[in-house]
Amino acid sequence: MNMRCFHLPGFRAKLVPADKPLPQPTGSEVVLKVLAAGVCHSDVHIWEGGYDLGNDQTMSFEGRVKFPLTMGHESSGQVVAVGPDSKDVKVGDKCLICSWIGCRECAFCKQGDEHLCTAPRFLGVNREGGYADHIVVPHDRYLIDLKGVDPVAAAPLACSGLTTYSALKKAGPRLADDPVLVIGAGGLGMMAINLVRVMGGKGAVVVELDPLKRKAALDAGAIAAIDPKAPDVDKQIRHELGAPVYFVLDLVGSGETAALGFRLLDKGGKLVVVGLFGGAMSLSVPMVTMRAASIVGSYIGSPGELRELVQLVQTKGMPVIPLDKRRLEDANEALADLRAGKVMGRVVLVP
Ligand code: NAD
Repeated sequence: MNMRCFHLPGFRAKLVPADKPLPQPTGSEVVLKVLAAGVCHSDVHIWEGGYDLGNDQTMSFEGRVKFPLTMGHESSGQVVAVGPDSKDVKVGDKCLICSWIGCRECAFCKQGDEHLCTAPRFLGVNREGGYADHIVVPHDRYLIDLKGVDPVAAAPLACSGLTTYSALKKAGPRLADDPVLVIGAGGLGMMAINLVRVMGGKGAVVVELDPLKRKAALDAGAIAAIDPKAPDVDKQIRHELGAPVYFVLDLVGSGETAALGFRLLDKGGKLVVVGLFGGAMSLSVPMVTMRAASIVGSYIGSPGELRELVQLVQTKGMPVIPLDKRRLEDANEALADLRAGKVMGRVVLVP
């Protein structure tokens, strides 16, 4: 029997279909039929071949990505075969796939932070991912039973959910009392607006360029949705937050958005940068000191946090984000639309 994937033959190239024999799992491997694979803006960055570091510098993925690569790190699937050493899943189980697989030997992996591994084996980045009808997961510890949760809607939990959950946890207990500022209402942003509520938070004020996405943010329960191009953007944000600005989640991560987030922070405030759109910002150093401000980067989240998140949504309900379901064959259009800013919420490819 064969499986089909859509793989990337090189940077900025079209994804091409490829058929290959369906692998038989060995050891603790598990083979799953892919039920859904989210299309994340990080896939666009991989496709583009690097990050804009600002100041005319680029970080190239040349040598970091092996071609052909099947992208897709936000997947759910149904188990079709298990290796002889696999104990915790069985054929038929519907699972969320944790793509954040580390070497399990470095200091990060030993403390459970496989997402920070310095020699990662991430599915969809370093190994074959979910833009396929089947996927091989090296161990059942990376599978989370989705009992009671729609596996198609759940797929984005594996990256946009986990990333925003881990970032929002960095707000600490004040999440319950004070609204947070969320910059960017794309796949991650729509997830964050929902998760603030699921996590018992007060709510989110959103900053977003696209008027349609601002409307979607309001429909999803945002307190307000503000245009960053408005001349009085700072005043509007302060008015809507109605409290000191203590927590800003920058899901765009450009020089402009990080500068906006930082200049708004009040005493003891925290800017958590998640997005990777790129650029640089200049910083008034004494303002960091005088405001006792923190600027923190947040990168995905740990496999343990993903389990926490699935438990949370199993008890408190799934974040409801606009889902744009498309066929696996439409992966190229999905990437192009996301790059052009034309996707509302998240595209999930359904084989
Ligand atoms: P997306 O394209 O779905 O959403 C981005 C949103 O930002 C869009 O709605 C866009 O209109 C808006 N935007 C762009 N510029 C803006 C600006 N100046 N001000 C306000 N809004 C603006 O992308 P996504 O999938 O949500 O991912 C967002 C970013 O996060 C990407 O760079 C992605 O690579 C990164 N990311 C980081 C991690 C991590 O672990 N740190 C994980 C996943 C994704």
